[in-house]
Amino acid sequence: MSSCRSCGHPDLLPILDLGLQPLANNLPRPEDLGKPEPRFPLCLAVCPGCWLMQITELVPPVTLFSEYLYFSSFSDAMLRHARLAVERYIAEFNLGPRSFVIEIASNDGYLLQNFVAARIPCLGIEPAANIARVARQKGIETLEAFFGLDLARQLAAEGRSADLVLGNNVFAHAPDTNDFVAGLAAVLRPHGRLILEFPYGVDFLEHTEFDTIYHEHVFYFTLTPLLPLFERHGLEIFHVERIPIHGGSLRLFAGRRGEHPVRESVAALLAREEQQGVRSLDWYRGFAERVTRLREELVRLLRTLKQRGHRLAAYGAAAKGSTLLNYYGIGTDLLDFVADRSPYKQGRLMPGVHLPIRPPEALLQERPDYTLLLAWNFADEILAQQEAYRRAGGRFILPIPEVRIV
Ligand code: ZN
Repeated sequence: MSSCRSCGHPDLLPILDLGLQPLANNLPRPEDLGKPEPRFPLCLAVCPGCWLMQITELVPPVTLFSEYLYFSSFSDAMLRHARLAVERYIAEFNLGPRSFVIEIASNDGYLLQNFVAARIPCLGIEPAANIARVARQKGIETLEAFFGLDLARQLAAEGRSADLVLGNNVFAHAPDTNDFVAGLAAVLRPHGRLILEFPYGVDFLEHTEFDTIYHEHVFYFTLTPLLPLFERHGLEIFHVERIPIHGGSLRLFAGRRGEHPVRESVAALLAREEQQGVRSLDWYRGFAERVTRLREELVRLLRTLKQRGHRLAAYGAAAKGSTLLNYYGIGTDLLDFVADRSPYKQGRLMPGVHLPIRPPEALLQERPDYTLLLAWNFADEILAQQEAYRRAGGRFILPIPEVRIV
């Protein structure tokens, strides 16, 4: 067992052991079936020193990111979320042609394209070559790199420090969290602001979102452990907002210490976390017990439906789908296929369980009686898109936070 990646405490306490799991974003092709599929331990633990939840074993990043298949632009909800956020930041922080914005893990430019349209200079940083290429084709300057202190110092030395540094769904994926936060501090102009969005650890625990655990997702952040982490690097969290995206996320605002008045939201959320039990081991144990109960319930339901002669499929070939199917042991014996909107995933197989991935239209063509909604974080969007399938009698099964048929 490793020591805490933030404070260095040597004795992490295990919360949930998911066993050996395949890489959730490595989708094999049918012709890969004869080849061995690597599996790595996946175990969530909490640090009793700073209460940071983290997975205990890492997989080398090169294995993970060389061909990353998650293209943000394929979700309407994500595009809308990004556009609204950019409009707000431009107005609230008075950004203009003399400002400079950096986005870490800028993906295919789904967010920065809004700054480009507003003629505000910006730079994307994206480690996946195939995705960085798509962003450049849209006219968004994109560095193909991992963000950390080295890159931040290099950018600062080139006079490319930023007024605004954005990082959506990347902070929790950067294993060397001290290096990452030190990099944020190094690339920020004196009065600049950082805004990070990440799945919120309290929502993760309270809603039993265990399927968001996968190898790339190293940290499950509550606010409590982040204060000492930011302070260690001369930064101060001055505002936090809870947002509904991805099953409940936190949007965190920080700057150099003393540069921005600290708003009431920070103390309020800390007090709330204390009350909920962030510093009590029982809170984490209760989560693990709920995961076990949900697994029993869902597997029992799927088996019963199958025995009654119903045909079953799933929707959503994202990482969380892989974690759920593999940990629950749900494979081709229960489900016929997984539908997904991304053409990059169609024709491939789900990791480990090897269910074929097909376009969403397959739901209407094949008419499975029940479809397990693995992408529950996009439930509203998917249920609306699948109106015709539902009108034809198809039902969806939500696996989280409770097993529910809709
Ligand atoms: Zn710690």
